[in-house]
Amino acid sequence: MPLPPSRLLRPPAAVAARLARAALGAALVLNPAVAPAQPVRASSPEAILPPELPWSGKSRERVRPASDPWATPAEKSGLLETPRYEETVAWLRRLVAASTTLGMVSLGQSPEGRDLWLVIASKERAFTPEALRAAGKPTLFAQAAIHAGEVDGKDAGLMLLRDLTVGGAKAALLDRANLLFVPIFNVDGHERFSAFTRINQRGPREAGFRTTARNLNLNRDYAKLDAPEMRHLVRALNAWPVDLYYDLHVTDDTDHQYDMTYGHNWPTAWSPAIASWLENRLLPATDADLRAQGHQPGRFVQLVDHEDPAKGLLPWFANPRFSNGWGDARHLPTVLVEAHSLKPYAQRVLAAHVLLESTLRVLGERGWELRRAVREDQERHPSELVLDWKTPEAPQRTVEVKGVAWRTRPSAVSGGPRLEYTGALRTWSAPKFDATVPVASARRPVAYWIPPAWGDVIERLELQGVRGERQAAPRRVEVEMYRVREARLAAQAFEGRVGVSARFESERRVQEFARGAFRVSTDQPLGDLLMLLLEPASPDSFFAWGFFHEVLQPTEYVEAYVMEPMADRMLRDDPKLRAEFEKWSRERGPEAAAARKSDETFLPEPSLRLQWFYERTPYFDERALLYPVGREVAP
Ligand SMILES: [Zn+2]
Repeated sequence: MPLPPSRLLRPPAAVAARLARAALGAALVLNPAVAPAQPVRASSPEAILPPELPWSGKSRERVRPASDPWATPAEKSGLLETPRYEETVAWLRRLVAASTTLGMVSLGQSPEGRDLWLVIASKERAFTPEALRAAGKPTLFAQAAIHAGEVDGKDAGLMLLRDLTVGGAKAALLDRANLLFVPIFNVDGHERFSAFTRINQRGPREAGFRTTARNLNLNRDYAKLDAPEMRHLVRALNAWPVDLYYDLHVTDDTDHQYDMTYGHNWPTAWSPAIASWLENRLLPATDADLRAQGHQPGRFVQLVDHEDPAKGLLPWFANPRFSNGWGDARHLPTVLVEAHSLKPYAQRVLAAHVLLESTLRVLGERGWELRRAVREDQERHPSELVLDWKTPEAPQRTVEVKGVAWRTRPSAVSGGPRLEYTGALRTWSAPKFDATVPVASARRPVAYWIPPAWGDVIERLELQGVRGERQAAPRRVEVEMYRVREARLAAQAFEGRVGVSARFESERRVQEFARGAFRVSTDQPLGDLLMLLLEPASPDSFFAWGFFHEVLQPTEYVEAYVMEPMADRMLRDDPKLRAEFEKWSRERGPEAAAARKSDETFLPEPSLRLQWFYERTPYFDERALLYPVGREVAP
C-alpha cells in the first residue's frame, strides 16, 4: 500500500511525478482513456512479474493436507486460492461450534448487508468486552483484508485459530493472551472477486478489491470515519480491551528478499514509550521467530524514486488517516504488517501465520510492559504537539538492504527509464531518510469548543472515543480562534472529499457558543488525537478534510449605492481611517490595480476599494473566514 512521499523536502522530479500519481489513488495509473476496456489475457501475471526467488522455509510444515478434516479452505487448495466471504464465514462457524475457546460476534453490517465478523479466542470463554477486560490477559487484535485483494492475513488467521483449538498444538498460547481476529474487514470489496484485482501480486488465483463498495479506501479513513465499516471497527476497538493492534496488508513497491515487513512511526512518534517497546521488544522477537521458520523479516520502507532504487529509502511515517498513524496518535500500539507481493501466496500466508503466533507469545510474556508504556504515553500530555513530520533534504544514515539486483535501460514504450529486477540476490547499502523535521505544531489548549452546528464533527469525535460535555445553556467563553487566510482547495477529489490547506492567524476573542456546544478537554487519554483532528494545520484535521468548507466564503454583502455614501462619511469622520486608506491605496500602486483588473477571480478594483471600507464597518460579518472551533487556554 504505497504512500505518497509527502514528507520529502523539495522532492526530486521523479518523486513529484510519483506524488501526482499517488494523488490519483494508485501507485501507477494508466490513462483510463487509452486503457483497454477488457483485461489483457495474452500473458499470465507469472510471465510479467520479476523472477520468483527460491524459498523452502521450515514453516511449510505448518500446512495441513487437504485430507485433514480441519484443513482451511486455502490449505485445501495448497495455499493457491483464498475462499470467498460465505465459505470463510461457514468454515469459521464450524470451527467455533467445535471449540470451547472460540466465540464469534458481528461488529455490524456493511452497506451491502454483510456482517463484519470478529472471532474471539479466549481460554476463559470471555466473549464480551466486559468479560475479556475482567479476565485481564493481554489481547492481540488482528485485522485482515482492509484492502481486500491483500488477503494473506485472513488465511493465516484461519490456520492459527485452528491451531489454537480443535486439537491444535498451539492451544497453550491462550494461557497468557487472547486473540481477537477480524478475518475480512472490507467485506464488500472482498466480494468484488476476480483474477485481475492485484496486478503486482503473486497469488492467490483470485481475490477481492482494494476499496469498499463506495470506492473508499478504509486505510485512509481512520481520522475522518466516513465509511460505515470503519465506524463499526472503531466502535469495536473502543469497546474491547485491545493491547496490540495489527493491520495486515500486502505491499508491492520495490523488489527485495524480505517476505514480511512491518512498520510503525519511528523514531518520531506521538507515542514514544509505545514506539520504543514495539521497536526494541516486540519486533526483535518476531524477527527472530520469522528467521527461525525460514522467513526474511524487514522494516516497511518505500523507494525515494521508483525508477532508481539507489536514491534510497523513505521511512514509513503515517498520519492519523492510516491505521498505524491513528494508533500512534491515540496511544493504541499498532503495527502495519505488509507481506511482500512478489513472494508466492503460500510463503506470504505462512509468514503471517508465524508472525501472529510469535506476537501472541511475546504479548503473553511482556504484555504488562506494554501496558505501562501505554499509560505513560496517555499521561504525557505534551504542552506543544508536532502535527506533522517530514524528511530532511539529505538522508541521515545508510542501512543494509537484502535486495534484488536491478538494471535500468531506456524504454521503447514509455520513453523513460525501464527498471528491471533480475532475481539475483544483492545486499547493498541504501541511503535512508527518517521523518524527523517538524512541519507544523500547536500549543496544547485546555479544551476545544465546537459549536453545535458542526454536529457531524462532534459525532465523529464521540465515535473516536473522545469524552466531552454538551452545554445545556449558551456560553460566552474567552478563547483563541483562527482566522483562515489564503485557503486553497485541492485540485482533485480524494477519498470523496476535497481537501483544503490554508494559513491561520490566531486571535483572542470572547465567543458566544450556543446551547449544545461541545467542550472537550485535552486532559484525557485521547487528547493528542483530539489536537490532530481539531488543529486545522494538522494534515488529517477535519478542517483539512473539508468538514469546514462553509466558513471559507463570506456570505453577506453590501450594495455599492449604500457603500459609496457610507465610505464618504467614514473618510470625513475618521482622519486615522483616511490615512490608512491612503497608505493602502498608495502601496497597492497602479500596477497592482491593473493586474487585479485582468484577473477575473478577484473583485474589480472599484469593488475592491468599497470592500475595504465595508470590512471596516460594524455591518461586515465578523465571523467571515473564522474557523469556528475555539481553543480555551489557561488565563
Ligand atoms: Zn494494503
